[in-house]
Amino acid sequence: FFEQILEAVPDSTFAMIEAFKADSNGKKVNLSPGIYRDDNAKTWVLPSVKKAKEILQADQNLNHDISPQMGYPDLVSVARQMTFKDTLDSRTVTSMQTISGTGANHFIARFLSDTLQPKTVWLSDPTWDNHPKIWRHTNPATEQRLYPYYDYKTSTLDIEGMLSTLREKASRGDVIILQACAHNPTGLDPSRENWEAIAEVCEEKEIFPIFDSAYQGFATGDADNDAWAIRHFATRVNATMEFAVAQSFSKNFGLYGERVGALHIVTRTRDSAAKVEGVLKTISRAEITSAPGFGAKVVATIIQNPTLRGQWQDDLKTMSGRLRDMRKRLYDELTKRHTPGNWGHLLTDIGMFSIMGLSQEQVAILKDTFHVYLLPSSRLSWTGLTSWNVEYVAESIHRVVTS
Ligand code: PLP
Repeated sequence: FFEQILEAVPDSTFAMIEAFKADSNGKKVNLSPGIYRDDNAKTWVLPSVKKAKEILQADQNLNHDISPQMGYPDLVSVARQMTFKDTLDSRTVTSMQTISGTGANHFIARFLSDTLQPKTVWLSDPTWDNHPKIWRHTNPATEQRLYPYYDYKTSTLDIEGMLSTLREKASRGDVIILQACAHNPTGLDPSRENWEAIAEVCEEKEIFPIFDSAYQGFATGDADNDAWAIRHFATRVNATMEFAVAQSFSKNFGLYGERVGALHIVTRTRDSAAKVEGVLKTISRAEITSAPGFGAKVVATIIQNPTLRGQWQDDLKTMSGRLRDMRKRLYDELTKRHTPGNWGHLLTDIGMFSIMGLSQEQVAILKDTFHVYLLPSSRLSWTGLTSWNVEYVAESIHRVVTS
């Protein structure tokens, strides 16, 4: 049956994780995965999550019933509140629980393929490498085009290029994927003024925006602040502005394996919202029936309990603060060595990632000679840096760049 099928190209992130595991060198450093690690390079269970699990486990009424089709209701409601706060009439937002952020991205692509049938989906250049895969898989008829985003020469946002490309080339009913904050892989976010200009172009050209919100709380350590762009779009819902949000709780709750997420579709009218819900339920029934319960209960318990919520806000600050410290440490180590390169942006980039501006060949030498693992695009995940490996990483980069 299967002799004719073509061999699949392995996913670069997972391939890197496997290669790292197999590397027996004691000095190895993994700077490739987007998974938060503490200063001991260990995955961190957030103290707020630990306490929520204790509360759930002590609850005599905790059962393993299936959630309704739109998901665990408390999770759906806290997800919506975290995203929009009070900017919208909740009756015009259709929210459902999904299998993490990937599931939310998948669901919205699937939903649009059954409804809007966009001719083009616009992706940032560069973007999270799963966006093109999800759209190719779910919506092969939709053409994928890139909008300028990262200026590799200056390591800055090419906002003019982005806006003019959309103005000149996008058409009514196209879809654009925007990242709400802590852009993966560049670590560069639009300013508030930039977001206003992006919203204007979307309205003018009648483009349907999807916010991918995978790092709320990781950008500034403040979940409200990091939702600014989404809430700004929410205030503009009108005849030419409806949009969606694909939300992940993997990073901001450290619940990578529990696969907790949500999809929100914001429509102009309650009538549209009711129809959207019907289509989502139809897709959900065929694909997952209903989303998993435990992780959803952990998130809802934290957000609904003021003490745990306060602890979680501290946890966000701990994670984003450590990443900021690592940025400064690596920057200092590189500048101390006078390593050739443009490093100033390392201090101002936001979130888990930065692009180091190294060639694929240099990235390969880092891996093969120094056992320091970055993605081929030279995306560095700050989560792998620690106070005890940062000097080694800086020295390795220095030697590769100056050899
Ligand atoms: N969107 C972006 C931009 C991401 O970087 C990620 C994870 O790396 C996701 C979505 C989804 O992650 P998950 O499916 O683990 O929630």
